[in-house]
Amino acid sequence: MHKQNFKIILSFLLILTSNFIFSQKKFTIVLDAGHGGSDHGANRTYSDIGRVAEKDITLAITLKVGAMLEKNRDFKVIYTRKIDEYPSLSDRTNLANRSKADLFVSIHCNSSQRPTAYGTETYVQGPNQNNENLEVAKRENDVIFLDEKDKQIFGSYNPDSPESLIALKLQQSKYLESSLLLGGLVEDNFVNKDKRFSRGVFQKNLHVLRMNAMPSVLIETGFINHPEESHYIASDKGQTEIAESIYNAIIDYKKAVDRKSGGSMAVRKPEPEKPAEVPLKNDFRILLMSSPTKYNENDPALKGLNYILTLKENGQYKYYYAVTNMASVKDINLKTAKDAGFRNAFAVGFMPNQRISMGYYTIEVYAGDKLNGNSYILQNLKDVERNKDNGVFYYTYGKVYTLEDAVKLQKELEAKGVKNTVIQKVYK
Ligand SMILES: [Zn+2]
Repeated sequence: MHKQNFKIILSFLLILTSNFIFSQKKFTIVLDAGHGGSDHGANRTYSDIGRVAEKDITLAITLKVGAMLEKNRDFKVIYTRKIDEYPSLSDRTNLANRSKADLFVSIHCNSSQRPTAYGTETYVQGPNQNNENLEVAKRENDVIFLDEKDKQIFGSYNPDSPESLIALKLQQSKYLESSLLLGGLVEDNFVNKDKRFSRGVFQKNLHVLRMNAMPSVLIETGFINHPEESHYIASDKGQTEIAESIYNAIIDYKKAVDRKSGGSMAVRKPEPEKPAEVPLKNDFRILLMSSPTKYNENDPALKGLNYILTLKENGQYKYYYAVTNMASVKDINLKTAKDAGFRNAFAVGFMPNQRISMGYYTIEVYAGDKLNGNSYILQNLKDVERNKDNGVFYYTYGKVYTLEDAVKLQKELEAKGVKNTVIQKVYK
């Protein structure tokens, strides 16, 4: 590692662990009332209270949260909208990035095909393996870091250098950690203070979260189409309780962040510099479970986790979550998997670009009833192999010799519209 770069990354890691020490600026929070204007969001009409529209409820709650925060001098509150208008999702995230916000809170209401669904849930953006997220962080780098004080430190920061990339990845995983912290506090308040039913904190790939370069949550405050809950979230009492819960969570979140960084008013002390984390030789994925059943992405069995790699071996589908070569990120990913409910999850090492010793990788493009010649897959892919096992037809495509090439092939298929494929290891 170049000595100059090494110094830069040390300073970089230092600032990651001490966000607030360098400046005494206010804690900037962007409050985002979901939908608005011509975008009504979820809505339903009830005979007694009339039409309940998500855009009105999100605005009412947002303004209440904002009013509470504005009384507190530690906070600077920025609204994506204060009236019934529709800023685009990019407008919202650009505003947050431009204003170097410390936190982004988007407020929504839920709806479901099932009329019995009710309760609250909070979404956070998944871990740093999401390349798009990383690209945003790179692009927004000048926004995040280059205020006057940071400029001295990051003057020679180069977003394309590998050292900077590692630091950015670490930062991304910190966003996830922080977002999960806030999400947990919000749901705790709903349960303990308001006696609501919490459906939990989930990871989801949502534009309004993905494009943010700061910890971000999206709160679903209740179901519009659940009669009882709808009346609650449409009432002034309900909206006030919800706003208080979100406010409490934000206050506790800031306390936790301040504690971590030694207090917002702390004077910067010279700290011993920790050596930068060195990437591991292997990539690590978290094995969630093995099953004879194939689950597609978004299947409830995957408990809301994204970035799943499915690897079929000896008739079993193995579900791996995320990939990293940083020990600290691996630990966070494992914790995320366990928190999601995969109690027996563990990390598995993969040697990068290792050629398979026996056999090859192929892509299982379809499993089920026999496909007819007009099917999309058979029309669009050449040389698809067919096997029958226990009455199920399995169709596979391609032959490659490293996992990385298999992932690449899978992505190419996805671009062609062949989705929910599985990488299969064939021993020959
Ligand atoms: Zn919504």
